[in-house]
Amino acid sequence: MEKYDAIIIGAGLGGLTAGAKLAKEGKKVLLIEQHTIPGGCATTFKRKDFTIEVGLHETGGLYKDNPKVKIFEELEIFENVEFLRVPEFYRFKSEKYDLVIPDDRQQAINTLVQHFPDEEKGVKKFFKVIFAIGGEINRLPQVRWKQIALFPLFPLLFPNLVFRTKQTVGDFLDKTIKNQDLKLVLVANLTYYHDNPYTMSLIYFAGAQAEFYHGGYYIKGGSQKLSDHLMHFIEKKGGKVILRHLVTRILTENGKAIGVEYKETKSKTDETQKAFAIYIIANAAVPNVANQLLIEKESEKLHKKIQGLEIACSLISVYFGFRKPLKELGNKHYSTFVFDKEVLSLEDMHANYKGDWSKRNFVFCDYSQLDSGLAPQGKSVGVICTSDYVSDWDKLSREDYKARKEEVAQIFIERIEKLIPGIRDAIEYYEVATAKTIQRYTLNPDGSPYGFAQTPDQALFNRVQIKSPIKNLYFASAWSMPGGGFTGAIRGGYFCAKEIL
Ligand SMILES: Cc1cc2nc3c(=O)[nH]c(=O)nc-3n(C[C@H](O)[C@H](O)[C@H](O)COP(=O)(O)OP(=O)(O)OC[C@H]3O[C@@H](n4cnc5c(N)ncnc54)[C@H](O)[C@@H]3O)c2cc1C
Repeated sequence: MEKYDAIIIGAGLGGLTAGAKLAKEGKKVLLIEQHTIPGGCATTFKRKDFTIEVGLHETGGLYKDNPKVKIFEELEIFENVEFLRVPEFYRFKSEKYDLVIPDDRQQAINTLVQHFPDEEKGVKKFFKVIFAIGGEINRLPQVRWKQIALFPLFPLLFPNLVFRTKQTVGDFLDKTIKNQDLKLVLVANLTYYHDNPYTMSLIYFAGAQAEFYHGGYYIKGGSQKLSDHLMHFIEKKGGKVILRHLVTRILTENGKAIGVEYKETKSKTDETQKAFAIYIIANAAVPNVANQLLIEKESEKLHKKIQGLEIACSLISVYFGFRKPLKELGNKHYSTFVFDKEVLSLEDMHANYKGDWSKRNFVFCDYSQLDSGLAPQGKSVGVICTSDYVSDWDKLSREDYKARKEEVAQIFIERIEKLIPGIRDAIEYYEVATAKTIQRYTLNPDGSPYGFAQTPDQALFNRVQIKSPIKNLYFASAWSMPGGGFTGAIRGGYFCAKEIL
């Protein structure tokens, strides 16, 4: 029987990056993915002549000094994947405000101060703090965080990471800024990470925002290009990737992970195969490792570690193929965050994200503002996205589920028609993907693309605790350190490989 250095369960970005780095360093890697394509949330699919992007709106961190750049260079990503700079960070649209936030620190400050002159001090403080946090995150060494955090000089070198560990986005903004509208503008894209500013870790939020204020990027042709490249990179370096196969069990011996049992995803029989390795890496969701993949004793150990942890909200997407580029209808913006008139302060946001579809804040992303490669000449692709919860869908019958999805699509079509008049007539195709869809394709509990929620108790150094208690079993996904998003999953996969190496 063939023995590997590492077996990776799942070809999401965390698994692919861990596999690519290990394969590059000469390790014998086997990656097993239950879906027909690699990527997890970082995938695309075809409908008519449109390429539909499952997840990516934009990713940041592609500037000098960001550790992601070094990872991309090492894994030959820049030579094989084309990144397109998004024209601005976002447009914020509410009843009172319609403003465009540039993806550059100084320009963003200028715009905000121009609209909120009484808040100049607060705006400057906001950017100072989020960039300080972003800088400290980038300077963190890539291994052994727990030991590093105990180093006596740590608080002097990383003061924000230490002293703001417990702070939420809401608390920080309430201390820094008075104007409620300005606070809403600054957290417009919160739904990309979480659904409540008062339980969202400031550190995680700031790390991600600081990256976007250096410029956001989309991948020409869709995020599948990145996932495909990483899979091919693993194969080029001698690794093996098996698609359409589901890992059903992690094999252990004397409390140590030694291999996996897997079978064809679609197979109706119980017939499984086995593969063995020194290290097992789960890109699969950590709760699934505890609930489904480990046997009793080992499963209990992991359960103890993760019990009580909160899972992040999911997302709903209404995907569109349009008969024309939306520039022809006068749209000038890549991401527009639409806020409902009843959302007057940060305190209203959580209820809004769980509330009525006709009022729920959402983002509309128009990929045709870029040469995205997602649609043929003269057509375009777009998506509406907002928070979603499996519990809103999972008790519905098949017919009711379909009908509710259609109802939600119509509500959102009406809402974007108000934003971009004429858009309804330009729709050639649309389709709704709910939290349940994400759960079905990635197997993530609650359909969460972000794993455990980024609350202060579950972020940064507290997230380091989400480590496998089983010897030779590692985690590399949105569920583990540092967390979700493209940057989080990629860095998590790389950290995991470094730790093993
Ligand atoms: C609608 C949407 C919009 C998003 N927008 C953005 C964005 O604009 N910017 C951004 O940075 N991030 C965005 N994200 C989040 C980002 O895509 C995810 O956080 C990240 O890709 C998760 O990566 P992961 O490594 O945790 O793996 P996942 O993507 O969760 O994939 C896990 C993989 O493991 C496989 N698997 C699971 N169990 C098994 C098993 N037992 N056997 C075999 N295979 C298994 C699954 O099939 C899947 O392929 C978005 C996500 C979604 C869904």
